Amino acid sequence: MSNEEALQRFKLFSEAFEMSGLPTGASEVAIKSIEKQIPLPSLKDSCPERTLHKCPGCKKYIFVTEYADGALCGGRKSKYCPECGQAMEWEK
Ligand SMILES: [Zn+2]
Repeated sequence: MSNEEALQRFKLFSEAFEMSGLPTGASEVAIKSIEKQIPLPSLKDSCPERTLHKCPGCKKYIFVTEYADGALCGGRKSKYCPECGQAMEWEK
């Protein structure tokens, strides 16, 4: 089962629990952790010479600066946000 399928299923569980008056806390925790596993593109903060990247989850700057000539400063494009663990998707 993919993360997307699991996420849909937990959302249905959550709705069904809510309609039955049952606590939804556990499925809400599951939904949040599955959402972090689904890669999202970084938020870009660009000017003509360089692009800075922010995490789509916590909105903090990730220490990668991309210059117009393709050079990277500040390390590599990490698969996960070092702050909140959000999975990141980078353009090729
Ligand atoms: Zn983050």
